[in-house]
Amino acid sequence: MSSSPAFDSDHPPSSTLIAACVHCGFCLPSCPTYALWGEEMDSPRGRIYLMKAGLEGRTAMVPPFVEHFDACLGCMACVTACPSGVQYAPLIEATRGQIERRFERSRADRLFRSLIFALFPFPGRLRIALLPLALFQYVARPFSASAGEPLQRATADAPKREGGKGREAALLVRLRAMLALAPKVTWRSLFTSLPERTPASGSRRTTVALLTGCVQRVIFPHVNRATVNVLAAEGCDVVAPADQGCCGALALHAGRLDDARAWARRTIETLDRAGIDQIVVNAAGCGSSMKEYAQLLADDPQWAARARAFSARVRDVTELLASLGPPRAPRHPLALRVAYHDACHLAHAQGVRQPPRDLLRSIPGLEVVPFAEQEICCGSAGIYNLVEPDAAQQLGDRKTSHIASVQPDVVATANPGCMLQIRAGAARQQQTWSVVHPIELLDAAIRGTRVPES
Ligand code: SF4
Ligand code: SF4
Repeated sequence: MSSSPAFDSDHPPSSTLIAACVHCGFCLPSCPTYALWGEEMDSPRGRIYLMKAGLEGRTAMVPPFVEHFDACLGCMACVTACPSGVQYAPLIEATRGQIERRFERSRADRLFRSLIFALFPFPGRLRIALLPLALFQYVARPFSASAGEPLQRATADAPKREGGKGREAALLVRLRAMLALAPKVTWRSLFTSLPERTPASGSRRTTVALLTGCVQRVIFPHVNRATVNVLAAEGCDVVAPADQGCCGALALHAGRLDDARAWARRTIETLDRAGIDQIVVNAAGCGSSMKEYAQLLADDPQWAARARAFSARVRDVTELLASLGPPRAPRHPLALRVAYHDACHLAHAQGVRQPPRDLLRSIPGLEVVPFAEQEICCGSAGIYNLVEPDAAQQLGDRKTSHIASVQPDVVATANPGCMLQIRAGAARQQQTWSVVHPIELLDAAIRGTRVPES
């Protein structure tokens, strides 16, 4: 393992942003890892302190230093909680950028991360990978973690961090976590596609370009279909370019900054070609990263201005619908108790909390039921539930218990990772509710159809 200085001069975390932290600790109760372990260095304040120590040469880039940043979910609950306006997102992204570029991970860790980044951003590869997985999942389900066996049992031989946390989960455990999270897929769902242009019903209010997402389009194509249905019913022409790729969210949040910049340039190029004023996204992680393109490409003289203009046009689908004014399409009643889970990259990173709730409350008969710890992450967090499966499962179980306590009929959340994570938690706790995207409920209400099952 390397014992080089914590940071080199290529985009280290900003000392100015670090200095904004006044060590008040208001962020601690909202931090999921602090809630789990109660350790200062696994809190936002502790991580910012570590960054400062790294900049001042008081620590090297050694495994314990890296582990505290690997354990961070990047959920940005600390940003919401901080009264001093500390910008944690650029701090953790710069820190992770240094770690990914300079820290020598174990061979198993490198292999697993390479597998993730060779697969998920590429819908074609993901489709092919899911074909045998679907069969394997069917055959192996009785033996998999989703059948209720705690992952911790399987991590008994894995190295431990202080305090009993898994230091670096074994490859086998990670693969089992991946299997437990795997969605139900069918041949039809894997190979369905959207039309490139869908006209508005009635008179057109606006035209939007839809990001179909690399994971969303393969695993949740029905969410994209429902998004197009609702937008068209509300008077939007919808353009969905078929040649769009990954937006770079997974790479950005994991610190693979060169990859994230390459995906960002490609996404801007593809969606700009559609020549449309507003870019609509239905996946919280994707929307958050596309709104960050301005910062991501700020040092690129050829792209900086274009990225700024692009980011300013990105809207979550619930934001876009709210901006259209009073709903146009009549809603059929849905007599349901719905637990709405705030995806962190929608609520904390984008500050979008009210539009999804307003969207749900526009459906007659539907009741949105609050539950405890709504600001705490479910443990999904991009690739977190794959690379840190123990902590992710503890957070998933905690979230599931809080949701179960209010006995909803349906759980709604606006991010594919959260949907998979909460479904896996529900399966472990033998809960039977469906987990859907809010737009699926609105689509069902507008079309007068049944709510889709998980
Ligand atoms: S991003 Fe989330 S996990 Fe990381 S320090 Fe902030 S609150 Fe904690
Ligand atoms: S709330 Fe903000 S200022 Fe206070 S310790 Fe946390 S990050 Fe620092």
